[in-house]
Amino acid sequence: MKTKIINAHILTMCDENFEIPSGCVCIDDKKIVKVCAQSECDFVADKVIDFQGDVLMPGFVNAHAHNAMVIFRGVCDDADLQDWLYDNIFPLEANLCYDDVYWGTKFACMQSVQSGITTVLDEYFVPDAIIKATREVGMRAFVSTGVKIDDGGDRLKFLYDNKQKYGEMFDDLIKEYAYCHGVYTFTDKQIEDTIRYAKEQKLVSTIHASENLAEVGGCAKEHNDMSPIEYLESLGYFDQPALIAHGVCVDKDDIAILQQYDVSVATNPASNLKIGSGIAPINSFLTRGVNVCIGTDGCASNNALDFFRDMYLTATLQKGVLNDPKVVPAKEVLKMATINGAKALQLDDVGLVKENYQADLIRISTKTFAMNPVNNLVSNIVYSASKSDVVMTMVAGKIVYENGKWTNVDEPTKVIEHCQKCIDDLKERARKSGQYQK
Ligand SMILES: [Zn+2]
Repeated sequence: MKTKIINAHILTMCDENFEIPSGCVCIDDKKIVKVCAQSECDFVADKVIDFQGDVLMPGFVNAHAHNAMVIFRGVCDDADLQDWLYDNIFPLEANLCYDDVYWGTKFACMQSVQSGITTVLDEYFVPDAIIKATREVGMRAFVSTGVKIDDGGDRLKFLYDNKQKYGEMFDDLIKEYAYCHGVYTFTDKQIEDTIRYAKEQKLVSTIHASENLAEVGGCAKEHNDMSPIEYLESLGYFDQPALIAHGVCVDKDDIAILQQYDVSVATNPASNLKIGSGIAPINSFLTRGVNVCIGTDGCASNNALDFFRDMYLTATLQKGVLNDPKVVPAKEVLKMATINGAKALQLDDVGLVKENYQADLIRISTKTFAMNPVNNLVSNIVYSASKSDVVMTMVAGKIVYENGKWTNVDEPTKVIEHCQKCIDDLKERARKSGQYQK
């Protein structure tokens, strides 16, 4: 099907032609075939969508998320990372079932597309449940078959067995990546095996690294005084494209290592603040040429799935910490939220409004209070808007969310009811198993 979007205020995210105030985007099936000024368009389409001056921009790339953890929203707040993880999250996760992940992922994907997120790197268990739910909502995603820490003692075999089991579920929309949780939960051997798998399968790898001081101290003690970044380098982790989640507690030497490789950093400001981990030195990454993108992290630590809040924090925290309002400008943050995320995930046709790119597009209203008056639309989006200003989300040419309705979800309230039942039953199972004391 050929679709033409007219009367759009386009923010392309391209270095040239960043803004087209009265523009037109032509889509053939999944891809953008033409981007031009309204007056220059002669494309004949089956369907015409009039944006009435609203913003059209690439969808957001959520570069670090644990979607199904939305069912843990509010189970443990105001606690530090180690308590949160070892006394709450891990005991509950030990008792997870397929339905918990399926309904949680579905609910998170609904909130994501409502927030303008079109691509997510989802780090969670039960890959078939994640893929089914994500596909149903219609998002682009990266899913790993190797999130489980317990791999039976042979991670490489575990990963290849899972490749056999789940390999056919991946396609252009839902791709595989290679996962390690962190340097404190995975052994040298597990990390090395995952690197080998990523290399052989040509996958992007991701790991939580330098999230808080306890992790950095623990790594130094365990691994010859090395920081998590130094340790990962020593294992060859950065020899293939990699994405580090968090990068909060890094020093100059760590950043000097990262800048030598094809490594991106996904910053998760809301989660890092709420869990008391600190503030990532985004400005230092940027000034040294390290690609920075944005993640929401999971809803057990964020607790929202509102990408606008993370964009706002990404921009403003650095200004406050450095006493310099000129650092991390709004336009840079929009690039982090889109094209930088796509780069981090090695997606070469996502993140720009450009010919031959995927039609992963969002419409942000210019009629809402938060988006007015219009002096600077880029500033309005980063500093003033929220997810409620997103009125349409399109993935690969298909509208998946529009004006409070999800194309492929008939009864949103049923999804909420399922999630509530899942978390209630899960707590009960975890209590009975003796692992969870609350
Ligand atoms: Zn995380």
